[in-house]
Amino acid sequence: MFDRLSSLVIALTLIVIAAILAALAGGDALTIAILAAAGFAATAIVHVAAPAPVTEARADIAAPPPAPLPSLLRHPDFARRADQETDPLLGTTDNIVTVANDAAIRLLGRHIVGADIRTAIRHPAATEWLAQAAGAEIPQEISLVDFPRPGQRWTMRIAALSGSDRIIILSDRSAIDAADRMRSDFVANASHELRTPLAAILGYVETLQDMNGEADAETRHRFLSIIEREARRMQQLVIDLLSISRVEADRFRRPTTPVDLAAIVRTTVAQLRDSEQARAGDIVAKLDDGAQPMLGDAAQLGQLAHNIVSNAMKYGRAATPVTVELAREGDRVRLSVSDQGDGIAAEHIPRLTERFYRVDEARSRSVGGTGLGLAIVKHISERHQGQLDIASEPGKGTRVSVTFPLAEAGGA
Ligand code: ADP
Repeated sequence: MFDRLSSLVIALTLIVIAAILAALAGGDALTIAILAAAGFAATAIVHVAAPAPVTEARADIAAPPPAPLPSLLRHPDFARRADQETDPLLGTTDNIVTVANDAAIRLLGRHIVGADIRTAIRHPAATEWLAQAAGAEIPQEISLVDFPRPGQRWTMRIAALSGSDRIIILSDRSAIDAADRMRSDFVANASHELRTPLAAILGYVETLQDMNGEADAETRHRFLSIIEREARRMQQLVIDLLSISRVEADRFRRPTTPVDLAAIVRTTVAQLRDSEQARAGDIVAKLDDGAQPMLGDAAQLGQLAHNIVSNAMKYGRAATPVTVELAREGDRVRLSVSDQGDGIAAEHIPRLTERFYRVDEARSRSVGGTGLGLAIVKHISERHQGQLDIASEPGKGTRVSVTFPLAEAGGA
């Protein structure tokens, strides 16, 4: 109703009027003085104690700083959610690791919690990056080459939270790099394989041209035979390259068509026996009479059988048997092909299914090999949930076998 100053003036005026009235009424001077002093004191106390109303003028005085935002890192759900993340994830406050999920602990060790992030992730690129992290213009992601071990590569991403809190996520790129390397190696190898016969073809064609029709019939025949052989090698290589890319593209598509493996193997054996290959007559087939029903891709299974049997024909000794067997083993069926030949030394066996891997390159070329046959076999086998096994005794021979799960007759 009254502002503070008006109330004070009114209170003092009332005390003075009360003192005058008391004097006029005949009060003694000491009593009037004591009452007046008590009135002044009460007025002063009330004036000091009463809260000052907020005035327009006070509104522009600086507001107190806002309370800091609650930290995400300290949220009760954060650690639980971080553990569900498959990539290593770290939370840091003032560069000290306060949170590390299971994946981060597995990668960097339990001691990282409480440690400085630059000691937890010991890598020059990470240290340099973290040193600049306070600045504005920093890259979102960096590459940690040879981390944590030589030959591996991880990337590191950082997200700044409120205050000095940060989240750091590491991702393993080693497998992606290896796949990239394999792809470029494959292109380089394929180009090299094609270049060799192509160079031979061009060389012999140019020689024939230079001879200007003066080459005798025998020389011409010899050169043309070489040209034909090299052209066929290129043709086989192109066929195998197309096969491997088709088989690889289908790798994750489970076959759903019921097929009879026994019938497929019988057809392949018949084709090879009828072929003009030198050892067509050496094939000995020991196939179970019954059907071997499974879910499969008939063309691919035929190719698998063809590649294994023709390898045995190529690398086995002349006039020795190439034995093809098909037999049921519980709920699986085993196709095995044995030859009698030089065999394969143990150290080569794990690498035979790599593309273009050959034990003896010259020998493989001389028998028309492309180095892709067993890589194709491996992919077809994997697509059919098969188990490939290569057993060999140097000087004696080799047995290549694949087992496949059988489907109940009538389909699965
Ligand atoms: P290639 O076209 O050269 O035969 P493959 O991928 O079929 O390629 O086989 C890879 C290598 O494995 C061959 O070059 C050969 O050295 C070896 N190999 C495959 N099968 C046999 C076998 N039955 N006996 C001996 N060596 C074999």
